[in-house]
Amino acid sequence: MPNIALLDQNTIDKIAAGEVIERPSSVVKELVENAIDANATAITVEIKEGGISFIRITDNGCGIPREEAALAFLRHSTSKIKRVEDLLCVASLGFRGEALSSIAAVSQVELITKTKESLMGIRYIIEGGAEKELEDIGAPEGTTFLVRKLFYNTPARRKFLKSAVTEASYINDLVERLALSHPDISFKFINNNQTKIHTSGNTNLKDIIYNVYGREITGNLIELNTEMEGVKITGFIGKPVISRGNRNYENYYVNARYVKSNLISKAIEEGYKTFMMQHKYPFTALHFTIDGDLLDVNVHPTKMELRFSNQEEIYQFIFLTISEGLTRRELIPKVSLSN
Ligand code: ADP
Ligand code: MG
Repeated sequence: MPNIALLDQNTIDKIAAGEVIERPSSVVKELVENAIDANATAITVEIKEGGISFIRITDNGCGIPREEAALAFLRHSTSKIKRVEDLLCVASLGFRGEALSSIAAVSQVELITKTKESLMGIRYIIEGGAEKELEDIGAPEGTTFLVRKLFYNTPARRKFLKSAVTEASYINDLVERLALSHPDISFKFINNNQTKIHTSGNTNLKDIIYNVYGREITGNLIELNTEMEGVKITGFIGKPVISRGNRNYENYYVNARYVKSNLISKAIEEGYKTFMMQHKYPFTALHFTIDGDLLDVNVHPTKMELRFSNQEEIYQFIFLTISEGLTRRELIPKVSLSN
């Protein structure tokens, strides 16, 4: 016999939170994306114990006005869209208004923020979704989120976390990807008081690749810059000598957003096929600029998957760009040898 009842709000919030916040790296992703959307030019990510006990994200972006701080933590509250039509041309990384409410539901959050217009900053504290404190304080322009005791009230979630070292490595990989996605933003990643990543944010992608990966990779890059209708490819691919045993070094971004796309991965690997041994994968740091009307916006944004309206053409274009880039390199030593 059914005994149907509505869930209470607290339970609803915790279930919803679980869909957005799976582990410490999800918190970092959401907060850094917010900082990017706030037009920050410098973002610092600091963690302790793999982010389980301590995550601090500091940005120099636009800040949050005092009277909107509490609102920001409500589910479905956002400054990025107003109505469903806005989704067709959304340029921000977020728009669902679910991240802050989800993080606050399963941790202790301290927000310090100040806008350009206000004289004083504020400190706002929220724990397990309940507001604890709001006070004026002196603060620099921008926003700091301090997230403590992740999943302290959802032990089932906590049990699924891996070791602090593994969780920290997920965050490290994420910050690397975010730094490459935004060469115009300076990123810093500090793990247990040690600086692990520091990028200049000088807009030069090759410099950022050097900041993240060092000399060996930067010394073996081929620059790409091609365009077809509605699609532009810029960035760098690695010469086959710096190929790896896994796909971790295949970085690509669509409209400055980190995404997963079988089509793009396949086209890249197909382009490399005749240049590389089996079971080896290339280094790439590619930026795709794709017209909004060639993309399907109905795909769940947090899944990072992407669908294109003209799959075949885009596939061919990527494949040819890669294989021609690699061939161009192959030709150079031959020409100089015959001279
Ligand atoms: P979304 O990013 O989908 O809008 P969030 O829950 O991530 O939803 O954030 C809610 C709102 O809080 C954002 O729309 C934005 O207005 C504000 N906000 C969050 N983080 C920042 C930040 N670092 N700087 C300025 N505003 C922020
Ligand atoms: Mg967001």
